[in-house]
Amino acid sequence: MNSLSRSLWTKCYPRPPTHISYFHSSSATSLAKVVATRRLLPISQKRLEQQTQWDLVQWQEDRTIPREKLLKDIKGAEALLCMLSDNIDEEILEAAGPQLKLVTTLSVGVDHIDLKTAKERNIKIGYTPDVLTDATADIGALLALAAARNMKKGIDSVTTGGWQDWRPAWLCGHQFTSKTLGVVGLGRIGQAVAHRLGAFGIDRLVYWGRTKKEGVNGEWVSLDQLLMESDIVVVCCPLTPETQEMFDYAAFKKMKKNAVFVNISRGGIVNQADLARALKEKVIAGAGLDVTTPEPLPLDDPLQNLDNCVILPHLGTATFETRETMGDMMVDNILAALENRPIPYESK
Ligand code: NAP
Repeated sequence: MNSLSRSLWTKCYPRPPTHISYFHSSSATSLAKVVATRRLLPISQKRLEQQTQWDLVQWQEDRTIPREKLLKDIKGAEALLCMLSDNIDEEILEAAGPQLKLVTTLSVGVDHIDLKTAKERNIKIGYTPDVLTDATADIGALLALAAARNMKKGIDSVTTGGWQDWRPAWLCGHQFTSKTLGVVGLGRIGQAVAHRLGAFGIDRLVYWGRTKKEGVNGEWVSLDQLLMESDIVVVCCPLTPETQEMFDYAAFKKMKKNAVFVNISRGGIVNQADLARALKEKVIAGAGLDVTTPEPLPLDDPLQNLDNCVILPHLGTATFETRETMGDMMVDNILAALENRPIPYESK
């Protein structure tokens, strides 16, 4: 961020103090305790902190709350507002105590929450579906194009002096006209990615998932067929025990040599060492990743040195519009949980 945009940002988004508890009652114990592991964007943050129904204990720093701090803060909470970067496991849920009613996460993915323990303890899971579909699909389409058109090599050449005179075959990639798109997990985001890439000339959509989607202009195929026939493979399914590391060397070997692989789901779906090997050996042409394991990806990770791998720092939902709406949904979920109403955005 340059100094002008930094000062604009500071005007719009002033820095909060380092740690705050928003107690709205003189007898603090009479109100429900809500714990938040981050600040939200300004409008939804204001709504969160102005509620008089609860006492809010909120981590103020712009980094993941230390585990010891969360274990301490969560004690006695009735609702937890968390991020995808928080590991909400059995220990955290137990530390909260039996009164915890809701864990609501600023994401549609819930793989960072121990769902089994939550279910056993009758804790509802809130999430933010739909509103992030467009923003995330934009990043999926962007990564597909970036990987297919050698964007990383191109940008690097501009900044490092590799860009010399114009050469007919230099940095040629592959265009999408009349190509086949394979979507793994044709849900909300998968369909939105297919819609976007259709505008770039894709003429065949194949998809793999657990169920055939009605009313979709695409073919439900086996995973092997998808891998063998697609020019672009985009992963949009959730991370679950079944999808963990489903993309390994054997899977990349089944793909076309000119194919690009895009992952906007979760890093855990890919065996990263195998992906690095496949890219290095040119088993596939390129990859675009919005998600990795771990995040942030260490600078010495083998994927970092590959000029056919474009990596973004988990930007899928990162638009002001989307993140504000996601924050608003979290507040709605907490209000409902504390009033013992059905959670409006519940992951089941
Ligand atoms: P969704 O509408 O529920 O779609 C998920 C799709 O995956 C469905 O088509 C589902 O189809 C399929 N699926 C589910 N379990 C599967 C399994 N075990 N094997 C194969 N396919 C499976 O969810 P969404 O809103 O599109 O979000 C999808 C995922 O994107 C999230 O879970 C999250 O991990 C990721 N995401 C990432 C970002 C980012 O910032 N990069 C942002 C938002 C979401 P069937 O049920 O028919 O199998």
